Amino acid sequence: MAKTGTIGVTTENIFPVIKKFLYSDHEIFLRELVSNAIDATQKLKTLSSFGEFKGTLGNMDVRVTVDKEAGTLTVSDHGIGMTADDIEKYINQIAFSGAEEFLEKYKDNANAIIGHFGLGFYSAFMVAKKVEINTLSYKDGVEAVRWECDGSPEFTISSSDKKERGTDIVLYIDDDNKEFLEQSRIDTLLKKYCRFLPVPVISGKEQEWKDGKMVDTDRDNIVNITEPAWTKKPSELTENDYRDFYHQLYPGQDDPLFWIHLNVDFPFKLTGILYFPKIKNNFEVTKNRIQLYCNQVFVTDSVEGVVPEFMMLLQGVLDSPDIPLNVSRSYLQSDSAVKKISSYITKKVASRLDDIFKADRKEFEQKWDDIKVFIEYGMLTDEKFCDAAMKFDLLKDTEGKYFTIEEYKELIAPAQTDKDGNIVFLYTTDPTAQYTYIRSAADRGYSVLVMDGQLDSHFVGLLEHKIEKSRFVRVDSDVIDNLIPKSDRKTVDLSAAQRDILTTLFNSQLPKVEGAQFFVNFEAMSATDSPIVITQNEYMRRMKEMAAMQPGMNFYGEMPDSYSLIVNTENPIVKKVAEAADKALADSIKPLMDAVNANNEKITALRDAKKEADNAAASSHDDKQVEALQAENNAKREEQTKLVSDYAATQPVVGQLIDLALLGNGMLRGADLSRFITRSLSLL
Ligand code: ADP
Repeated sequence: MAKTGTIGVTTENIFPVIKKFLYSDHEIFLRELVSNAIDATQKLKTLSSFGEFKGTLGNMDVRVTVDKEAGTLTVSDHGIGMTADDIEKYINQIAFSGAEEFLEKYKDNANAIIGHFGLGFYSAFMVAKKVEINTLSYKDGVEAVRWECDGSPEFTISSSDKKERGTDIVLYIDDDNKEFLEQSRIDTLLKKYCRFLPVPVISGKEQEWKDGKMVDTDRDNIVNITEPAWTKKPSELTENDYRDFYHQLYPGQDDPLFWIHLNVDFPFKLTGILYFPKIKNNFEVTKNRIQLYCNQVFVTDSVEGVVPEFMMLLQGVLDSPDIPLNVSRSYLQSDSAVKKISSYITKKVASRLDDIFKADRKEFEQKWDDIKVFIEYGMLTDEKFCDAAMKFDLLKDTEGKYFTIEEYKELIAPAQTDKDGNIVFLYTTDPTAQYTYIRSAADRGYSVLVMDGQLDSHFVGLLEHKIEKSRFVRVDSDVIDNLIPKSDRKTVDLSAAQRDILTTLFNSQLPKVEGAQFFVNFEAMSATDSPIVITQNEYMRRMKEMAAMQPGMNFYGEMPDSYSLIVNTENPIVKKVAEAADKALADSIKPLMDAVNANNEKITALRDAKKEADNAAASSHDDKQVEALQAENNAKREEQTKLVSDYAATQPVVGQLIDLALLGNGMLRGADLSRFITRSLSLL
């Protein structure tokens, strides 16, 4: 029955095209051929179960054999096989319209090309100079067939003496691809693509250690696990099964924290198990990623676009025959089935977390610090997830207690609502460094949250936006009364002149602290509060923190940190300092201040007059006068500053108060610190 024919493609010669374009992904030919063998096997099992095939199934293993001497690689199955008609229909006729255009577009993506044209079988020509199909169909009374093709559009078909049902695909590996004749290379590939295929796949022999080296035994080496955990029902699996499967996927990892078994039939088919890993160091997630399977055939571990971005931090497997796996990534992202899958996964993960939280809150709390980064990342990047997670997102206070957002809000509302009705959430980013502020908040009966995670500076902004009438302030961002302003606030009782003198007084004694800038302010706190408190503005600090995480915002990043040096005017020591300064300086400073005020009045008068007059000559004369008055003022101010500074230098208590505040913030170092110690000793 030997005959020759031409493969039915509209583009003259597909083989050079396959070879030329599909260089990067050559290895996937093996996945395609083994998948075909599995399909053929499964089809026969199905026919048998429906009674359409009445023979015995017998051994149904798929076998991959390398014969280095003959230069061949053979994939054999005992599946349905093909008749000559089948070959004509399924192998020889390839629908191939618009081919050139498509090939040009996806020339670097063998997956796309193979998927688009249903060219699984032909991918063999990426690595073979000649391919042979030797096959016997399951159908009664048919002849075995041999098909041969050497990479030109011509093939020959003849009868074969094959006795066993099934198909052998024999690849005569070409010179450029000799690597595929190495057993170890083939084993690696099978491990990658075929590890969880549903039919046993045999490659080579099991090995054992004998006389100082590894040698083949006579047992067949089965490369795959035919019933991986995700294909089973959750009710059939124990916690250990889930853990074991995780370790099969990612050897050497710590136990996962949680897992989610996905199992949907409608509106698409999707199974899989997603794991929340225990991340040891910052996002060590790039290598152990979610693996995507299509009917247990490994496709890729680049799942961008299929799972929501934040779930890229998760691990595990997803298996769906509905994901158009064989197409390019840009196509994947715009595919509506994929979008549905992505949003389904989001919903499922959220509801599963909610279940775990409800079923075992204690365990959830124990693992919270580890899973927090996933949840926060999810909430920050996925609106729907965020809304669902508001129910189980936990906040931790400085005593290590956990609260849901709602619980915490209720807890703090009575004491921490400010005069405008906003609930103020106090937080610390460093409980040790900000200890004194946390203490003084606790003394007021306020609660403080620990927000020291990698994403917390962003997350705080999100919570503020999500929780109505809420404000988040870091506990050291202002004096305690200002953090949560109440209506019965005391006001600072200082005249403008006193303020002026005190500001200069404290300013003159400030040591230089690298990267920091101080502004002196006054607050009437309680008499028992510290004399001086150093705070950092919440808004500026957040801007700087954000800038540090985002490239291109150097403007904020390079600015010095600005701090408020807040002088508590109700504190008895401060009162004493202020009174003494007033007494010592008032007489000499008053005339200077009066002169400045008088000059300022003159300047204002001149400017007003200028606005009315339109005489150019007169106005230039006035400008000169204004300049002269301003110069005079500057001189007087300098004189005043000098008077106050000279006086301050004789008052060690001023420097001492500042240094104590700096010390409390860990900002007193080096020479300033030793100067402080000397001064302290002399004061004793
Ligand atoms: P696809 O698998 O996407 O349909 P292929 O080019 O891989 O495309 O295969 C074309 C067809 O050839 C298959 O659909 C199947 O009918 C047949 N075929 C391929 N390999 C085998 C095999 N090992 N046993 C039986 N039939 C096969």
